[in-house]
Amino acid sequence: MIFAVVVLCVLSSVCSARVVIVVNKGGFSGVEAGAYAEERVDWRDDDLVDDAACTECFAAVELRRFLVRCTDLKAGEIVFGGVGELPLQGDVFILGSRESNPLTGKNRMGKKVVNSEGFAITAKRDGGRIVTVIEGGGRVGVLYGVYEYIERLGVRFYGLGDVYDDRAGKRAEARDYFYTLKDGKRFNYDRVTEYKVPSAGTVYPAGKVGLIEELDIAEEPSYLTRGFHVSLDRGNEEFYRWMARRRFNYWTAKAEGKTLLHKLGIRLSGGGHVVQSLCLPPAGQWPYNHVKFKGDEDKPADPFGVSAEYIADADGDGKLSYFEAHPEWYGLIGGKRSDNIRGEFGHNFCTSNADARRELAENVVRELILGAWREVDVLNFWMLDNAKWCECSECVRQGSYTDRLMVVAGDVLAAIKRARADGRLSREVLVVLPAYRGTLAGPTKKIAGLDYEGLSVTFFPIERCYFHEFSDEKCGINGPMRRNLAEWTSKEGNYAGPMFIGEYYNVSLFKSLPIVYGDLMAADVRWYYGQGARHFDFMHVLTRDWGSWGYDYYLLSRLLWDVGADGDAVQAEYIAGCYPSCSAEMGRFFQLCGKVTPAFTAMRIWGWTEKLMDKKAEVFGDNHLAYKADGDGDKFGIVEAIRYYDQAEKLIEKAYTRCEQGLQKQRVAETRQRFYYGKASLHFYYHLVNVSRSWRAGEDAQAKAEFSQVKQWAAKLREVKELVHAASNDANCEDGFAATRKGVVVYEFFDKIYGNGEE
Ligand SMILES: [Zn+2]
Ligand SMILES: [Zn+2]
Repeated sequence: MIFAVVVLCVLSSVCSARVVIVVNKGGFSGVEAGAYAEERVDWRDDDLVDDAACTECFAAVELRRFLVRCTDLKAGEIVFGGVGELPLQGDVFILGSRESNPLTGKNRMGKKVVNSEGFAITAKRDGGRIVTVIEGGGRVGVLYGVYEYIERLGVRFYGLGDVYDDRAGKRAEARDYFYTLKDGKRFNYDRVTEYKVPSAGTVYPAGKVGLIEELDIAEEPSYLTRGFHVSLDRGNEEFYRWMARRRFNYWTAKAEGKTLLHKLGIRLSGGGHVVQSLCLPPAGQWPYNHVKFKGDEDKPADPFGVSAEYIADADGDGKLSYFEAHPEWYGLIGGKRSDNIRGEFGHNFCTSNADARRELAENVVRELILGAWREVDVLNFWMLDNAKWCECSECVRQGSYTDRLMVVAGDVLAAIKRARADGRLSREVLVVLPAYRGTLAGPTKKIAGLDYEGLSVTFFPIERCYFHEFSDEKCGINGPMRRNLAEWTSKEGNYAGPMFIGEYYNVSLFKSLPIVYGDLMAADVRWYYGQGARHFDFMHVLTRDWGSWGYDYYLLSRLLWDVGADGDAVQAEYIAGCYPSCSAEMGRFFQLCGKVTPAFTAMRIWGWTEKLMDKKAEVFGDNHLAYKADGDGDKFGIVEAIRYYDQAEKLIEKAYTRCEQGLQKQRVAETRQRFYYGKASLHFYYHLVNVSRSWRAGEDAQAKAEFSQVKQWAAKLREVKELVHAASNDANCEDGFAATRKGVVVYEFFDKIYGNGEE
């Protein structure tokens, strides 16, 4: 027996190792091979064994990489072992779920982890060694558990970048960024603008640390969906890796490199306003053998029969279209059936027509299986954008627009359920409806038989106020929206499913200004959760050159995972971790930036700038905005915002001078750079307001002097380019001056009066 053990040790090399990571490599030749085999895995079938092996091998390789970085272990001293038996010697990590690695259950007391993203970690001394079990409810839970362990060693994923990445600090090219200019021409700046992959976001412990000797924790997420509302491919590998490390799990199916996203446990969204164009296209060819039409005999039998309103091949193109076969399926607008469904716009179909709903639902399933949405996990089921709705008496009887949408959704859910049951669709799909514009109000009735748990409704608090928390009764802007949300969430209401919150942290008009939400975001995320929200995304996340946005992204990641997290402690930890030698200055800096946030919201969203050009209009008074607040707690003043920013500037300059060369300085520099974009924007508006005030008072000399200030800030803003190219096309802009949008109009107005070509 002794002889046999010796032979085994020689063969396996496990015995000489100081650490063995036990993981199931599935059918892959080795753990390293499995960790990067995402291209070879079929992520869309019902066989989850290869999916688990790939992600769990990757988790094992990540664990080894960070152990080598943080402890005194050398790469050669950490080996991978199979899941058959516990190694006899050395410290051991057991990675997996109860399904993929039975050793997890044998070596960890406590309940099986149920949530597929949840994990439990135990570490304990076993004789002279440490046995650590990282058990996930599924493969993603295993990966998250590994990152949790790594964080407990002292690593923090505060931002993009990882100095151990080969591409850190190098310049890489982005794809598919464009901005539509006023004349409709597309300006594709990222073909010419390269960018630097940031490398300063990962923080390591100061010295070498040892393995954790005792640990017993279990976690699962508060919010089930945590991520970003994105409609274009605009990510990059650094960003996706950071997403997984901070447990974000939601991105777009438009992304390239989807296999990497699958490996990292990131679910993909699709759909939008195009659903009807794709699944009930009026001009699309009738897909069945219509009994009255010749030339379609090779098609499947027609399940719908002949319509009384059948118009044959009315346009004489030799083909029968959906609209020609069944005009009554489409919206009755002004007494006529309308075939106006073009892309995202037009007239919604006749939602009271059960045949139309059934065909639409079956076509949605077809797209999910084979078509445009074959990679989609979360389907945004939206009606046409800003559309007219069918005016027929049956549709009117259906109820409000929201009620009609719920009926259509019921048929889609039922069709998906059938496809899941008969094996045609081999994955779960969450259907998400919009509470937006026409369907912002909650339903007025319940729908019998609707599987509410299979869907969600996204509530979009568009143009909300960021001066007040969403729950704050004092706010007249958020009040009506909050009442709409309550129609969805109240116990007496007619909606019984979970809510999806679609926040606007970088709403397109903000153009990636250095906005800081801090405490307000923490309070909102907790409050939304209390109202029944279980899914959360926001628009126009920056995928590079974050600057101060990193502060909120980190805070958000912690709160979405655990709404009970202490927001103050998270913010303090971020400051201390990112800026250890200038934390006092940077802590105060972020607080001051937070105080300026409502000013930016007011200036960019609420269209007050137009009033600057109207001598009779009252510029201030609405939307909590004042020229000077003078201590009035219900208002914020543009003058105070300038003062806060002056103080913030002194602090960040002090921090920059003070902190040592290296990663910390890089972080301050990145934050400082975006801050100056914010400063230029703020001063541009401030002096524009002063021009208008002097103009109104007839003080032309003063107005002219102020306008020369405006010009200087406008020139600075024109130099801001890469910083306004870091988000989506909607939130991006040609330069910082164009990003002021209406500001440009006001600028041109006063340029004619006070400009005179003088500098
Ligand atoms: Zn109708
Ligand atoms: Zn407010």
